Amino acid sequence: MVEGYLPKDLDDALKVLNEKDVIIYAGGTDLMVRNKNAASLLPKFDKNLLYVGHLKELKEINVLEDSLEIGSACTLSSLLRSEKTPESLKESIRQIASPAIRNMGTIGGNICNASPAGDTLPILYALDAKLKLVSENSSREVHIEDFILGPRKIILERTEILKSIIIPKAGLNKLYYEKVGARKASAISKLSFIGLAEVKEGRVKDIRIAIGSVAPKVVRVREAEDFIKEKNLEDIKSQMGEIYKIYSKEIVPIDDQRSTAVYRKTVALRLIQYFLNTKI
Ligand SMILES: Cc1cc2nc3c(=O)[nH]c(=O)nc-3n(C[C@H](O)[C@H](O)[C@H](O)COP(=O)(O)OP(=O)(O)OC[C@H]3O[C@@H](n4cnc5c(N)ncnc54)[C@H](O)[C@@H]3O)c2cc1C
Repeated sequence: MVEGYLPKDLDDALKVLNEKDVIIYAGGTDLMVRNKNAASLLPKFDKNLLYVGHLKELKEINVLEDSLEIGSACTLSSLLRSEKTPESLKESIRQIASPAIRNMGTIGGNICNASPAGDTLPILYALDAKLKLVSENSSREVHIEDFILGPRKIILERTEILKSIIIPKAGLNKLYYEKVGARKASAISKLSFIGLAEVKEGRVKDIRIAIGSVAPKVVRVREAEDFIKEKNLEDIKSQMGEIYKIYSKEIVPIDDQRSTAVYRKTVALRLIQYFLNTKI
């Protein structure tokens, strides 16, 4: 039988992590499903569990001088309620699961689960989020793009925990989010798209496009963003073919139970065009 640890604070949790081989969990909405057992039996685990969903050090949202720091155990519902949460992040959270799952599920769990269909991931990529990873003896910050290696593969060491997500402030004045699913509510994404831009006097000063579920990792293509930057809106329209070509190389979806590769690629490219032609 597995044991569960209920640490009194973050230091206590880090001590357990240092001394025992445990699985961290917060809301359990991914982990319990992944480890589900036969009907009416408890989920099956081969290691002890460390619960962190109650730790107040992981539930804070702090506005810093040039960034926002979100605790990893903030539930998706609490982020929707907070005035500090960027609107772009709220747009994606509103379309995750149902209120019951959002009341339990956390932003840290969504990131560490590292699913290609994780709905907060594209926006966190587009916002250039960094993750603070701490252990009993160390602390480091890594870019979210370097944290996720592929489906369910992250660089977290056994003794580390994801403490918080750091989102740098940015003057982005255009936002377009689209989650494409089988139905409007409570559907896992076929793909999801976020476009952010800063446009001044008809010229693109900053542009960030991130697309989920069209490759093993979220697709964000710096080459394409650099190509678009500093162009005026008319030039972007006339050079859409070039932009398509750059994104096409990186959009490499698969067929699965939710959609086909052809559908995903076609829709992803159309959404890029729609965003650049009509939303900025
Ligand atoms: C019915 C249903 C519908 C869903 N719909 C969606 C959806 O539409 N979109 C979507 O993106 N997701 C969806 N999900 C998945 C899930 O709800 C989210 O990914 C949620 O954010 C996971 O958070 P959690 O706290 O429950 O994670 P948990 O299950 O607790 O943990 C998930 C993983 O992260 C690790 N982990 C958790 N916290 C930390 C931490 N602080 N440090 C290090 N590792 C950590 C765990 O070890 C585990 O590997 C759905 C799930 C269900 C059951």
